[in-house]
Formats: sequence, structure tokens, C-alpha cells
Amino acid sequence: MADAPNYKEELIGVFGHPVAENPTVVMYEAAFAELGLHWRYLTIEVLPQDLAAAMNGLRAMNMRGINLTIPHKVAVLAHLDEVKEAAALMGAVNTVVRTGDRLVGENTDGKGFLTALTQDAKVDPRGRNIVILGAGGAARAIAVELALAGAERITVVNRSAGRGRELVELLASRTPVRASYAPWSGPYPVPAGTHILVNATSIGLPPGADQKPDIAYGSITGGMAVCDVIPAPATPFLLTARAQGAQVVDGLGMLVYQGAIGFKLWTGLDAPVKVMYQALARAFGLS
Ligand code: NDP
Repeated sequence: MADAPNYKEELIGVFGHPVAENPTVVMYEAAFAELGLHWRYLTIEVLPQDLAAAMNGLRAMNMRGINLTIPHKVAVLAHLDEVKEAAALMGAVNTVVRTGDRLVGENTDGKGFLTALTQDAKVDPRGRNIVILGAGGAARAIAVELALAGAERITVVNRSAGRGRELVELLASRTPVRASYAPWSGPYPVPAGTHILVNATSIGLPPGADQKPDIAYGSITGGMAVCDVIPAPATPFLLTARAQGAQVVDGLGMLVYQGAIGFKLWTGLDAPVKVMYQALARAFGLS
């Protein structure tokens, strides 16, 4: 006898605001198709004041989990049953996995960034001086992973001093790195001796894709690796850094690798990383 039909799909997705230009769906749907999985990835606009309702909705609809993007990564912690150790240390969650009726928070952003930096760009952060622009969820994840990977010094540059100092305190008290805060008022001169510069702010994200962080671009030099979290192949930030002779690392690799970790957490299967990257590249008109 033939199996009964199963029209029910397993649901995951992303909550964010703004979220319409978040390309994550493209790589997940490509991965589901590749592996023949009956899963769907939904891109869902959720306002900050509606996050609690949205998390209840996730439970009610028996979704398998959710990604969180701007501005929900920190706020979501209040709505979870458990937060894994690294995510708790960062104070930010980008991936929620439903196990039975429990919602468990993880953070795959920093590990995705590190994989793109070390595997694709062949840049080892060990013993390096690093400047991170931003102190939000992405910056916290990246800073913690870089510190745990042996970075020598991390300078956090952030518009709001309170948030910047909070991240520095976290790094100094919970990781071996030497950390300091630098205020951000006017074009920031990247200190000589910086090896890695990371834009972990949301500057450059659509609809502001023509904008770039306010730094003194003349202070970027040929020996630096300059990285952007914005998931696009050529942000104005990276184009300007490349024109200064720097090696650039875009946010697409980070997106694919962090997604691959989430894919494994949700489905239990190894992600088809190449297929996911190619799908994103196509979406960005790169192939
Ligand atoms: P948050 O809202 O938590 O943090 C935003 C950060 O950007 C804060 O440090 C904020 O400073 C800073 N910022 C925003 N606008 C300005 C501005 N005009 N001038 C100076 N600083 C500014 O966001 P997330 O950390 O969650 O996300 C940041 C970016 O990272 C997003 O663009 C997101 O798309 C990207 N991202 C990419 C990933 C990838 O895989 N490629 C994964 C995760 C995130 P302040 O504290 O002063 O407000």
C-alpha cells in the first residue's frame, strides 16, 4: 500500500525588522531542494514590540526553530527556555532550536565569521590586533569568537559608549584578550599596527546600501584584512578598503557558514555548503 500523503511542511525562518532584503531564504531553500527535504524557510517581518507574540506564534505553529536578525538578537533571550553557553556569554542569540516544547538559543554568527576568515581568506586571528566597528549582536559574537581564537588585542569602536564599554568589559572579564573601547565621533582613524578591521555595524545594509562607516579611509593600509558583516559581495566599505590595497572579506561567506551550522542543528544533516553559496551568489548576480 502506498504511504499516506504528507502535505505538512517543517517550518523554520527568520524574524527581523527590516527583513525583506535578508537573503537567507535563498540558501536554505536551495539546501532543502538539494537534499529533498520537505522543509520551508519563511522570511517574517516582526516589529520589536511584537517579538513576544511572534515567539508564542512559533510555539503555537510548531515551527522547528527560527533565526533572529536585527533588532531581535539580544531581546530574544527573554523568550527562551535555555541558552547555550557561548550564546549566553555573548548575550546574543541568532538561532533558536525547538526541542520538544523547549526553545533553545544558540549563536552561530561568530563561528560563521571565523570560518570565512580562516578557511576562505586564510587569515589567522591568533596574536593579531583587531578593530571592531559596532557593539551589537553581530559584533559581540564576532568579538568573543576572535578572542577565544587567540586574538592579542581587540579595540571596540561604537557610537553609543555604554554598549561599547559593555562589550569591552565582557571581553576583558571572560576571555584572555586585551580589550579597549574607542569613542566614535567623526572619522575614526584606524590605528597603525591593526591587522584586522571588521565592520560589524548595520551601516551598509539595505535600504542604506550606499552608506559606509565613518572612518578615515586613508588610515587603511595594504597589510590589513578588512571584513564586512553586510551580506553583499561589494559594499562601499569593502570597495574603498580594497582601493587602499587591503585584503577584503565579504559577509556572504559568514552568512553561508553560520547558516550551515544552523542547518545541522535543525535537520541533523550536514549542510550542502557549496549549493548554499552558489544559490546566494546567483541571487547577488555573481554567477
Ligand atoms: P544590532 O542592532 O544589534 O547592532 C547594530 C550596531 O550598528 C550597533 O553597534 C550600532 O551602534 C551600530 N550602528 C547602527 N547604525 C549606526 C550608525 N548610523 N552609526 C554608527 N553606528 C551604527 O545589529 P546586529 O549586530 O544584529 O547586526 C549588525 C549587522 O550585521 C546587520 O547589518 C546584519 O545584517 C549583519 N549580520 C550579518 C551576518 C552575516 O552572516 N553576514 C550575520 C549577522 C549579522 P549603537 O550601539 O550606537 O546603536
